[in-house]
Amino acid sequence: MPKRFSNIPIIINQGWEAYSKIGSTKHPGPILVGVSGHVNNPGVFEMPTGEPILEIIYKWAGGISGDKGIKAIIPGGSSTMILRGDQLEGVRMDADSLRAAGSSVGTAGIIVMDSDTDLIQVITRIAKFYYHESCGQCTPCREGTDWMFKS
Ligand code: SF4
Repeated sequence: MPKRFSNIPIIINQGWEAYSKIGSTKHPGPILVGVSGHVNNPGVFEMPTGEPILEIIYKWAGGISGDKGIKAIIPGGSSTMILRGDQLEGVRMDADSLRAAGSSVGTAGIIVMDSDTDLIQVITRIAKFYYHESCGQCTPCREGTDWMFKS
C-alpha cells in the first residue's frame, strides 16, 4: 500500500506490538489520509486506521463547502469504486470496512463530491485520464477505458 513507508519508523522505534494496537485490529497503524474536492479544509491528515469516513470529512476536513450534501466520494484514489453519500454511515477508513462497503482503501486519497456534482462528467474525466495514463497493470483500466471511448 502506498504511503506505508511512513509507518516504518514507528515500528522500529516502538515495536510491532505497540504498532498493532493503533487503529483497526486487522489493518492497524497510522494512515495518511488525503482529502480533496468539495471540503472546507482539504489536506493530508495522519490518523489511526478505522476513523469513520464521515468524521474525516466533517471534522478533519472541515465539512462540505457551502454546507451542501455529499453526492458521492471516491475513498481511495480515483481508481477505487465510488460510494454514494447515503452509503457512508458507519463506513470506516480501513481495508475491511471499505471492502464491505464495496470499495477499497487504495491510496487513502478521499475525493469528496458535493450534491451539485455532475457524476457523469467526473467519471468521463477519470476514464479519459486512465485511457491516457494507465500503467497497464489492471485489465479493466488498460483495456476497458480504451473500449469505452470506441463505443
Ligand atoms: S492499470 Fe495501473 S493506473 Fe490503472 S488502475 Fe491499475 S494500477 Fe492504477
